[in-house]
Amino acid sequence: MADEPREFNAASFYTYLREGRLMGIRCRDCAHLSAVPRPLCPACHSRKVEWHQFSGKGQLSTFTCISIVPVAMGEQGYGRDNPYCSGVVTLEEGPRISARLLGVDASNPQNIQTGIAVVLELENLDQDQPTLAFHPA
Ligand SMILES: [Zn+2]
Repeated sequence: MADEPREFNAASFYTYLREGRLMGIRCRDCAHLSAVPRPLCPACHSRKVEWHQFSGKGQLSTFTCISIVPVAMGEQGYGRDNPYCSGVVTLEEGPRISARLLGVDASNPQNIQTGIAVVLELENLDQDQPTLAFHPA
């Protein structure tokens, strides 16, 4: 039984994430991979794109720790005394993706190194409001 074809958008991305899969798109014309699902190849503008599953492994390229938080994050307990980290992960397949960074000491960002291996965080995934997150491998 084949999967229902899913639209190439953020809603589908999070549906896959709830299922434990990190999905992006692959262009059938130029083989470009993108972690941002859109019905258009960002490299050659072809519309022949298909879903592509990423391994969930990558490298932390850059990050920032945030202590002045938006309201929604404050409601989750983040703030001046409990900052959170957000960063850019370069997936092992090449594309870059913005994500939360968990399992690090956000109060001491000087101890967090760029270049470390990270993996997709699924254990604490909120099924109602899933957040893309990675933690050190
Ligand atoms: Zn393409």
